[in-house]
Amino acid sequence: MKIAVLPGDGIGQEIIQQALRVLGAVRGDGLDVEIEQAAIGGAGYDEQGDPLPVSTLSLAKAADAVLLGAVGGPQYDELPRAMRPEQGLLRIRKELGLFANLRPALVYKELAEASSLKPELVENLDLMILRELTGDIYFGQPRGQRQTDSGQREGFDTMKYSESEIRRIAHVGFTIAGKRNRKLCSVDKANVLDTSILWREVVTDVGKEYPDIELSHMYVDNAAMQLVRAPKQFDVVLTGNMFGDILSDEASMLTGSIGMLPSASLDAQNKGLYEPVHGSAPDIAGKDLANPLATILSVAMMLRYTFGIEAAAQRIEKAVGSVLQQGLRTPDIYQEGTTKVGTVQMGDAVVAALGE
Ligand code: NAD
Repeated sequence: MKIAVLPGDGIGQEIIQQALRVLGAVRGDGLDVEIEQAAIGGAGYDEQGDPLPVSTLSLAKAADAVLLGAVGGPQYDELPRAMRPEQGLLRIRKELGLFANLRPALVYKELAEASSLKPELVENLDLMILRELTGDIYFGQPRGQRQTDSGQREGFDTMKYSESEIRRIAHVGFTIAGKRNRKLCSVDKANVLDTSILWREVVTDVGKEYPDIELSHMYVDNAAMQLVRAPKQFDVVLTGNMFGDILSDEASMLTGSIGMLPSASLDAQNKGLYEPVHGSAPDIAGKDLANPLATILSVAMMLRYTFGIEAAAQRIEKAVGSVLQQGLRTPDIYQEGTTKVGTVQMGDAVVAALGE
C-alpha cells in the first residue's frame, strides 16, 4: 500500500510529522505501507512554479491514499488565481475524482465545554456528514449572467443531479452507516426542488439493498435547525453538494474546536484524500503551537475507509481520547485546570498512549 504525503504550507509540516509518527507506531497492526512526500500549495509553487506540480499529481494518482496537511499563506495572496495554493487543493480533488466528502463531528466528553451549545447537547456527539462533492448547483450548466428583456442583469445557476450520481453517493452513505450505528438521514428539499424529488426517490430505492440500515428523510431547513437543537439524533447525514457545504460547517462548529476535526474525500474505489478540516494557520506556524489531533484522526479515517483496518483506526481514536483524559491540551483547546502542551509533546503523548 502506498501513501502520498503532502504536508503543504504553514502548520502543515508540523502536524504531518506528528501524524506520520502515529502511523509508524501502528505499522504492526496489519499495515504495510510505503510513504512518499511531495509538495502542494504554496510549497508546490515555490518548488516548481505550480500549486499542483505534475510530479505531485502523478504520485497522488499512483498512491492508494493521500494524506494532506493544509495549504495557503499570506505570501501567496497576490499571485494570479491559477497559481494560488488553494487551486492545488481544488485541482487534486477533481483530478482524483473524489466525489464523497466525509466530515465527522466528534465531541470528546472532555471538550464539550468548548462548544457554543450546552455541554449536555454535544457531550460524546459522534455524527458524520456525507456530502456529494462533484455535482449539484456548483457544477451544473448552464450558468452565468445575462441581460433580461427589461434591460437588467440576472444571474443564474443550474441545480442538477443525475440518477447515477445520486446512486453512487447513496451507496457510500449506506456503507458508512453500516460501519457505524446503522442510521442514515438523507437531507434534501423535496417539497420545492425537482432535483430533490429525484434525490429522495433514488436514495429510497438504493436503501432497499440495505434492509438493516434505518433510512429517514429530512428537509434541509429542518436539518439545519435539528443540528443545533438535538444533534445527537443523527448518525450519518447524507446530502448534496450545496446543502452539505453549509451543514458540514454548521456541524463542525458544534464541536467548537477546529484543531480536532478530520475529513476524508473518497472515490468510487475508496481511494481517499485525508486532511484536517482547518487551514494552514499561518499565525501560529513554526511555533510548536498547532494541534496535530485533526491530522492524527485523519490517519485513523484513512485506516478505516481506504485500508479497512478498523482495529488500528480505533486504536488511534482511543489513544487521542486517552491523552485528552490525561488533561493534555494544545493552546487552541486549553482550559484552566488542564496541562498546556506543544505540537510535538501532543504527538509524543498519542504515540505513548498507543502503547497502553
Ligand atoms: P485556518 O483554519 O488556517 O485558521 C483559523 C484559526 O484557527 C486561526 O486562528 C488558527 O491559528 C486556528 N487553527 C487552525 N488550525 C489549527 C490547529 N491545528 N491548531 C491550533 N489552531 C488552529 O483558517 P484561515 O486563517 O482562514 O486561513 C489560513 C490559510 O489557510 C489561508 O491561506 C486559507 O486559504 C487556507 N485554508 C486552507 C485550507 C486547507 O488547506 N484545507 C482550509 C481553510 C483555509
